[in-house]
Amino acid sequence: MRLTKQKIILNSAINAFNSFFSAEDIYQRIKGKNLSLATVYRFLKNLEEKGEVHSYLCNNRKIYSCKKDNHIHFTCEKCGLVKHLTVKTVDFLQEITDDNICHFQVDVTGICRDCLKD
Ligand SMILES: [Zn+2]
Ligand SMILES: [Zn+2]
Ligand SMILES: [Zn+2]
Repeated sequence: MRLTKQKIILNSAINAFNSFFSAEDIYQRIKGKNLSLATVYRFLKNLEEKGEVHSYLCNNRKIYSCKKDNHIHFTCEKCGLVKHLTVKTVDFLQEITDDNICHFQVDVTGICRDCLKD
């Protein structure tokens, strides 16, 4: 298969997600198009190097986003529940460094709403 054709298929699969996705998610979408999972991984790695996708670790899985989404986990110390939180801006972090922050991932721990009721 021509490289440009692969690119078109992969790009449109990626653009179909407006939030986080994994390589497997992309692979599911392009099934039957003769592209291997290894190709998907290679493509994503390449996009990541170019700064076109951003990666995060979620449940020991690597996930990606096309936007500079921030990925925040809240883990309950009592029941182990994991929730995703969202923060719109990184301004408060950018203020403390001259390095250019692209995206971030944070793990926050506490007691969830349900456990607080008990
Ligand atoms: Zn990034
Ligand atoms: Zn996550
Ligand atoms: Zn809990």
